[in-house]
Amino acid sequence: VTDRRERVQEAVRAAGLDALLLVAPPNLAYLCGFRPSPYERLVALVVPAEGTLRLVVPSLEEEASRTATPDDTELHVWRDDEGPAGALAGALAGAWGQVGIEKAHLSVAYHELAAAARPGADFSDCGPLVAGLRLVKDDEEVAQLRRAGEVIDRVVARLAAEIVPGASESELGDAARRLIREEGGDAPAFPPTVLTGAKSALPHGSPDGTRVAEGDLVIVDIGASVEGYCSDITRTFVAGRGPDGLQSELFEAVREAQAAGVAAAVAGATGADVDRAARSVLEAAGYGELFVHRTGHGLGLEVHEEPSLHGANEDPLPDGAVVTVEPGVYVPGYGGIRIEDDVVVRAGAPEVLTRAPIQLAP
Ligand code: ZN
Ligand code: ZN
Repeated sequence: VTDRRERVQEAVRAAGLDALLLVAPPNLAYLCGFRPSPYERLVALVVPAEGTLRLVVPSLEEEASRTATPDDTELHVWRDDEGPAGALAGALAGAWGQVGIEKAHLSVAYHELAAAARPGADFSDCGPLVAGLRLVKDDEEVAQLRRAGEVIDRVVARLAAEIVPGASESELGDAARRLIREEGGDAPAFPPTVLTGAKSALPHGSPDGTRVAEGDLVIVDIGASVEGYCSDITRTFVAGRGPDGLQSELFEAVREAQAAGVAAAVAGATGADVDRAARSVLEAAGYGELFVHRTGHGLGLEVHEEPSLHGANEDPLPDGAVVTVEPGVYVPGYGGIRIEDDVVVRAGAPEVLTRAPIQLAP
């Protein structure tokens, strides 16, 4: 964490800023180790261009934040009966004219409080600056992501045994939640998605009481959060019997596309390169039109973060970026197939973090 603080402070100075005012929980977790659960009371981290971090916390979080943060962190504690204005002003004390804020996360009300505390200061967006630092995962982060991958692999293996005709999507989703905790995850990284039959053709459908029927395609898209770090895996199964000809054909095409995408996720390749590698396999198989979303996304403290693997992303992937590769085909009214793994981008072959077998049989 000390290392990260130095890197962010270097970036703050390079950007011509005097300080950052951060409120997004993943950014706080990244820079000071404290993981507040998001709620209405203000928790904010002030990162001056030099010197120690300053954390604004409500009094009920004082103890938890003191334990989690580096010893030299200045705490600016506020109580419900006084409100956060004074603590925030204290944390923003300094001769600062240029302050970075996360425009996508800081509420207008808190922005106004900050502006009142630093009249005349210029507030500009620092979201991309912090996202850029988080893009490359250090060894500690990769180790956490590896653990999150191992947890979800075990969950997939156990959940597959419950995918039988008659089980409902929401029952299977509940089973996934339970198994994630049993296998060592802190929580699901996102609401588990289990979609069966024609619903598996909806890339963003939600589980309901729909029951699995024999021969259905069943898409399972789940992830575990382990100490803040996320995994995100998708497997597709055929319930109750072996696959038919079309199911096998679609599955082989997606499997080949996914493998091509994983192989293309090397340092220096762009997001567009990875997308093209996967997409061209499906296009050659005649299924290009049925692959209706991007190939993948960054993964870390958030399930969706930088970089995005789509056809217009011409930024090269750095060594140490962690991404998902998840092509799919969706046949409206019939069903869909998606395969998703998490990989660490390296100069050589990528390290695949999720290793559950890729097969149609549950
Ligand atoms: Zn997913
Ligand atoms: Zn994903």
